[in-house]
Amino acid sequence: SIPLGFFGGIGAASKHGVLVKGGNYLEALNSAKTVVMDKTGTLTEGTFKVTDIMSAEGFTKKELLELAAQAESNSNHPIALSILEAYEGEVGVAQLDSYQEIAGCGLKVVIAGKEVLAGNYKLMEREGITYLSPKQVGTVVHIATDGKYAGYILIADRIKIDAKEAIKGLKRLGIEQVIMLTGDNLQVAKSVADELGVDDYRAELLPQDKVTELEKLLKNKEEKDKLLFVGDGINDAPVLARADIGVAMGGLGSDAAIEAADVVLMKDKPSNLIDAINIAKFTRKVVW
Ligand code: ADP
Ligand code: MG
Repeated sequence: SIPLGFFGGIGAASKHGVLVKGGNYLEALNSAKTVVMDKTGTLTEGTFKVTDIMSAEGFTKKELLELAAQAESNSNHPIALSILEAYEGEVGVAQLDSYQEIAGCGLKVVIAGKEVLAGNYKLMEREGITYLSPKQVGTVVHIATDGKYAGYILIADRIKIDAKEAIKGLKRLGIEQVIMLTGDNLQVAKSVADELGVDDYRAELLPQDKVTELEKLLKNKEEKDKLLFVGDGINDAPVLARADIGVAMGGLGSDAAIEAADVVLMKDKPSNLIDAINIAKFTRKVVW
């Protein structure tokens, strides 16, 4: 059974916008040693902006953006939203003949009989399309139509203002390692990891790879040391469920992620994790 004092701790946490789904999780927070964090939407805002458009031979920038917008018109991925925002014209959603999401890669759609690919270099490689690589660091969406490369759209996300302070604070509270996991490309992952000072990171992960990485970390730690995972996306739900303590972003987060989580950060602020751990430590002192 859970000592009554933990209810006080849960109340204190909720005043900071931290929803704890049970006293046992508050207690587990005391023993957290490893924090694993998703990048997009957790450490970064998750709202992308188009920063560059490069059309390949035979396509204008306008044509490229239009193809991309049409392909993305049925998706609500943050990448899709940024492309639709940059494209100001009307998109012909009704003409979408088929729509396929390829996990960790992007989209393959048919619009008015014409195939359009929108996604990262892995999508281009699996479809046998030769692509250009931008020099700038960013998330890249390559576009191809009917087997022809049309160019790329470069988009960028911003690191949350409290992310760096959150990582520092976690270390001060005795967290031994902070690891970032992302489906995004290696260059973007490295630049975010360096800026934030995380101990380690893994990039270009498919949703299933995130589960595998987490299971490896769970296997290699001591039972008494707890592992905390923080994420926001639908893809993160299986990882949230497996971690000793699953923490979801409550504002931006998908319903599936919030449902699967043990702790929810209602303000989407990674620094609220520090409040949660501090309250857990204080509650333990009062309870025992
Ligand atoms: P994460 O949230 O960690 O970035 P995702 O699995 O959502 O992971 O996406 C992984 C990668 O797949 C993205 O970085 C992007 O390159 C590509 N991708 C996913 N969805 C789309 C989309 N709708 N349009 C273009 N690319 C996409
Ligand atoms: Mg995500």
